[in-house]
Amino acid sequence: MSEASGGSPVKYRFGEMTWREVRDAANAERVAVLPVATIEDHGHHLPIDTDVLLCTTVCERGAALIPEECVLVPPVIHGYSPHHMDFPGTLTIDGHTFIKYVLDITKSLAHHGFTRILIVNGHGSNTPFCEVIARLTVVETGGKALAIAVNHWGINTVRDLVGTIRESPPGGISHACELETSMYLAIKPELVDMSQAVAEMERYPTASIPAWTDLVAGRPAEASAIAWMPYWSTFSQTGVRGDATKATAEKGEQILTAAAEGLAELVKELRRLTIAPRVDHH
Ligand SMILES: [Zn+2]
Repeated sequence: MSEASGGSPVKYRFGEMTWREVRDAANAERVAVLPVATIEDHGHHLPIDTDVLLCTTVCERGAALIPEECVLVPPVIHGYSPHHMDFPGTLTIDGHTFIKYVLDITKSLAHHGFTRILIVNGHGSNTPFCEVIARLTVVETGGKALAIAVNHWGINTVRDLVGTIRESPPGGISHACELETSMYLAIKPELVDMSQAVAEMERYPTASIPAWTDLVAGRPAEASAIAWMPYWSTFSQTGVRGDATKATAEKGEQILTAAAEGLAELVKELRRLTIAPRVDHH
């Protein structure tokens, strides 16, 4: 951890700050990093907190690299997962509620003077909502605050790395998959039961169009322009979509390191940029 001039560590965890420290962090134009995820089934081999654990670990490790550049806001652990409700343990938030709730947080941060907000998402189906939240943060603060949303697997360094180390085919990195299982193995191996890990990459049973989306490789070519999300239980027996059998803790550690470094670079870039003034052309 970095040292402040007085020799004490630089605080970056928002919740551990006093209000005067929050004020000073905002005045120093530090970037507010907000992790968001969900609680939902992740196959027979992973806990239901997978998205939360992976996202918060990426953010914690990234923020720890550059504590003086950011504040790490406590995570939003509940997200949009209605299509997973056939699997016990899933807790879902209505999409409109999710948008309003997270937007209230980003607007609160903006109210306190944080002008750069980075929403780091750890759950695929939160993605369109996080994009909307980022847009609305800009619009509803009149352009005072700039918000950016990114999925942790979408960070450049992660995409590049996973493209080279993955062993599963296209469609094999999606959910409770090689990527998520590897990352969990690197953080809490005692909670992963690899004897229960499977590969599930079936097509939707009644359609010739494949339903999968690969977090890194995108959609299959024959369905590249189609967005759809059927109920998960209609195409997956275990809740897995992808190939969890290819996961290792070593890959997970590599991915976490790349994610933390990429996130730190993104934070620095966001902090450096000047928020361009609006021009009223009336
Ligand atoms: Zn997940």
